[in-house]
Amino acid sequence: MYPIADYLADVAGIDHSIDPITIRRKSRDRYAVSPLLRNYLNGKYADIVVSPKSKDEVIRAVAAAVKHKIPITARGGGTANYGQSVPLRGGILLDMTQFAGIVWKKPGAIRALAGTIVNDVYEAAKEIGWELRMFPTTRATATIAGFIAGGTGGVGSARWGVLRDRGNIAALEVITAEDTPRIIELRGTQTALVHHSYGANCIITEVELPLAHAWEWRETIVAFPTYMQAVRCGVSLGQTTGIVTKLLSIHEWPTPKLMQPLAGLVPEGHSMLSSYVAFPSAADFDEMVAEHGGKIVSACGEGQGSYGIPLYEMAFGHALAQVQKSEPGRTAIEGFFHSDDIPGLVERVHRKLNGIGPMRLELRRWGTKLAGSGSPYVTFESEEQLIRVARIMQSEGAGVANSHASNVRAVGKKDVTDQDIAFKRSCDPYGLLNPGRFEVDSAEDENAGSDLPIDAWVAQRGVV
Ligand SMILES: Cc1cc2nc3c(=O)[nH]c(=O)nc-3n(C[C@H](O)[C@H](O)[C@H](O)COP(=O)(O)OP(=O)(O)OC[C@H]3O[C@@H](n4cnc5c(N)ncnc54)[C@H](O)[C@@H]3O)c2cc1C
Repeated sequence: MYPIADYLADVAGIDHSIDPITIRRKSRDRYAVSPLLRNYLNGKYADIVVSPKSKDEVIRAVAAAVKHKIPITARGGGTANYGQSVPLRGGILLDMTQFAGIVWKKPGAIRALAGTIVNDVYEAAKEIGWELRMFPTTRATATIAGFIAGGTGGVGSARWGVLRDRGNIAALEVITAEDTPRIIELRGTQTALVHHSYGANCIITEVELPLAHAWEWRETIVAFPTYMQAVRCGVSLGQTTGIVTKLLSIHEWPTPKLMQPLAGLVPEGHSMLSSYVAFPSAADFDEMVAEHGGKIVSACGEGQGSYGIPLYEMAFGHALAQVQKSEPGRTAIEGFFHSDDIPGLVERVHRKLNGIGPMRLELRRWGTKLAGSGSPYVTFESEEQLIRVARIMQSEGAGVANSHASNVRAVGKKDVTDQDIAFKRSCDPYGLLNPGRFEVDSAEDENAGSDLPIDAWVAQRGVV
């Protein structure tokens, strides 16, 4: 359908593959965590995988795509869970993983090429006594630009907020998909144009991030007789800024039993709080935990747990992945708990959901306040069932994003402003970048994959 042979003539010398197995493998990400996206995205493949190694090659690959009017979808580690890197309309899959390396680092900041694995950025910062403010639990395989374009926040967000919060992305270098691609440097709040835009308005080539002082972290698992005790303790810890934590991940029983690596660590019937606490804060942490009726069942240095994986690989998106290993039929939605009384809101939602499935709650800063995100793990029946759960959560005041959708507007985590539309128009005049995911005219967006009611996740750009 697309003039791939002509395109290839223009990108001679750049690594590429038309091998069907490679194309199928690279046209997938982690959307299979959603039973609805599994149906919707299966069978959507690129026509060619192109793997540039340098900025010149990225520019040539994009310029040739524009010349021949072939869609181009960027891909990093392919760990996205909304299927954002699946090429809906075929064409070129731009594999960015060979375009990797640290550009520079200095106290407080680091700059890396787009395809650098998040873990490599983390380790490079550690070498000079600093660390990433936040990272996705897919740190081992995700790329730094994929995190910016497709992610939200993660480990570290309990202290530093989410990526969209002002000050958490220093700068992005991007290239446009015009006849002659331009290189643009976006700084400060301008970076919000690109964050969570799924590569649908430009290709990121470099990412500059502010850093945090590195701590020695203690991985800690605390068991609580009830879920609400765990929630109250987590919220108190999150609101006590003097106790340095970077993860506050709360799971209702029987989730600890469904997470196989934990095998018997958490007593029967107990809910758990998983946390990273800086060693100098450990005594205060332990005191607060005891006040809330919690019992520490594991405390060790990073990566030293008897469970054999980093503790963060049982939080955020990884928590569902662990649960699905025991019960593949489980799924979740993305609720948002933003209130001056988070425990009160969680308790009302919890009561109204009436045991439909164990709840997960991740606590993080969001804008100026602590907030929670999560939902129950339900045994999937239908889209209507998920809509019902979303409406119950909304009826009590929680917000909902659609983690079973695959385009920017339908997921609902980015507010699309006039500025976004103008930026998209100017950078991608032919609508070739990840087409169908975020069109200038919303009517041109592809069917999203599912239709959950969304609200409350959208950014308040620039006002926090
Ligand atoms: C088990 C699991 C756990 C997860 N945990 C977290 C978490 O804690 N926090 C979180 O935020 N997310 C999480 N995610 C989602 C995802 O892993 C992260 O967002 C991750 O950072 C994506 O990086 P990636 O390199 O794999 O991106 P990809 O999946 O390759 O791409 C993500 C999006 O970015 C676009 N993109 C990639 N590279 C570029 C580029 N150079 N320029 C422009 N666009 C580009 C792609 O087109 C796609 O739309 C999780 C997912 C799973 C499956």
